[in-house]
Amino acid sequence: MGTLLDGFMVSKAIRSELKDRVAKLISNGKRVPCLAVIIVGEDPASQTYVNSKAKQSKDVGYTSQTIALPTQTTQEDLISAVEKLNHDNNVDGILVQLPLPQHIDEDALINAIAPEKDVDGLHPLNVGYLNLGEPTFIPCTPKGIIRLLDWYNINLEGKRALVIGRSRLVGKPIAALLMARNATVTVAHSKTTDLNALLAEAEIIVVAMGRPEFIKAEHIKANQVLVDVGIHRGDGKIIGDVEHAAYEKAAFATPVPKGVGPMTIASLLENTMEAYLRGDHHE
Ligand code: NAP
Repeated sequence: MGTLLDGFMVSKAIRSELKDRVAKLISNGKRVPCLAVIIVGEDPASQTYVNSKAKQSKDVGYTSQTIALPTQTTQEDLISAVEKLNHDNNVDGILVQLPLPQHIDEDALINAIAPEKDVDGLHPLNVGYLNLGEPTFIPCTPKGIIRLLDWYNINLEGKRALVIGRSRLVGKPIAALLMARNATVTVAHSKTTDLNALLAEAEIIVVAMGRPEFIKAEHIKANQVLVDVGIHRGDGKIIGDVEHAAYEKAAFATPVPKGVGPMTIASLLENTMEAYLRGDHHE
């Protein structure tokens, strides 16, 4: 049986370090970092994520603002809410919880966030920096994945990595990060023809498909590192894009829950600290 990568434990260590840093700021009489989260509508999964982001921000000692807007909010009003936060010197990080209602143009919203407060790393400028290998805000889930693999000293250099999924939030940025770490990266998506052949030759597999338990134990071999990004709620439990039996077959695997999920929020808190430190208004 392989090793489970304990994202919950690692995220706790990261949060505890951030808490110490906030305590130092307070003892030096400084303002503490502030994360603002905008949520539009009543999607229960989004509400759960936003509540947990706000709670964990407060737990490390940040101030947190949640701006909850009704589903019918116009794009114009939403952009004004973002712009207000852009100009608020007490706000370091801004996150707009996705997905947004159909009538809102997601790209326009993301483009409206000031790049220096874009702690989700989704603004085109930050995406560009990431792909150029320049310092930037790294999207939270991919950042958390790399952090978790590093924690367990998993070597990425020269490895054949397969990323299944090419979303803006996960697939594309994790592929860029793995490439930056000298892995040889293949990106699969819904039009990929022979996924099984790619799975068979991969040494690191990141699954971000949004398909419950699509990857089965039979696809996985004992030398592989398996990262399950999927989150699906139902029947009172949370499952991933990979079936549980597959975790046991791999050399290392991130479980769902308590794998990538907690690392995502820890990375958001780290990005918020980074935004705070980068800003010239925290004295
Ligand atoms: P997404 O935007 O729906 O993207 C899914 C990707 O998977 C797409 O690129 C799609 O290909 C590809 N895909 C779908 N079916 C496929 C198939 N049969 N074979 C190969 N590729 C296939 O999803 P996402 O935002 O990346 O999220 C993926 C999953 O991760 C979801 O379950 C989400 O809830 C979860 N998630 C978890 C966290 C966390 O913190 N743990 C954070 C973000 C997301 P096309 O591009 O061709 O459509």
